[in-house]
Amino acid sequence: MPRLTVCLYTDHPSESLDIKAVAASLEEYGVRTENCGNLFEYLGVNHEALYEAAARLASARVPDIESPLDEIHPPVPHEADFEMKLITGEEKGRGALYDGLWVQRVLRKLISDSLPEESGSDFLHIIFTGRLVGTFEARRYHARVVLLGSPAIISTSGLVEAPARPREYYFIKGGLIRSGRDTRELDEMYRGKFIEYDDPKTTSAISSYALQALFYELSGDAFCENPECCLFNSHWQEDVLRVQYEGKPCARCLEILR
Ligand SMILES: [Zn+2]
Repeated sequence: MPRLTVCLYTDHPSESLDIKAVAASLEEYGVRTENCGNLFEYLGVNHEALYEAAARLASARVPDIESPLDEIHPPVPHEADFEMKLITGEEKGRGALYDGLWVQRVLRKLISDSLPEESGSDFLHIIFTGRLVGTFEARRYHARVVLLGSPAIISTSGLVEAPARPREYYFIKGGLIRSGRDTRELDEMYRGKFIEYDDPKTTSAISSYALQALFYELSGDAFCENPECCLFNSHWQEDVLRVQYEGKPCARCLEILR
């Protein structure tokens, strides 16, 4: 069986993400990696195809987190123009939530049209993005750190926003907001208890999610049930810091990866 090649792309993820370190951590498991740099530059698609992708990404934004985006509509031109600026890095947009499955479709088509020879099962494509992506489950959208599949999408914004912070943090924050007070001091008090934007812990934690994408490709299993394994599906920041940050796979997962 030919060796799997994992192609790593960026779409303006957190500046503290070190892709070379993520690649090195994956190579420990015997795969080849290719650090392709910015996805849209690497694919070298023409302006028309890029604008079409921008328009489809703009349409994949979630206007209401309580309604699933069952179909995407053509966006109004200024939204596509703004999305083009996000693609080129001219604008930074951390606020919007995208329907992750639509984003995955758009990017899959772009990759398979541009790199047909790399669309087979010997290649896994992973895109590290700064976009916040979510999936609709249990009556509303939930932000995600990783969307498995090919391309797998790993969001550095999702790493900050998706796993929940301690319960009492939200409780105190709610009280501060209601009484019109500043919440910055609270963030200071809880510093180290969750991952922040451009946190130095980003690379190590994201490496575990990249391994998750590889694990899914090899085994078809999404997550590990063992709460001490770095492939565990962490719902809390506390768990991310305990198992994804500087984490290792459990013996069973290691067996599959090797
Ligand atoms: Zn495991």
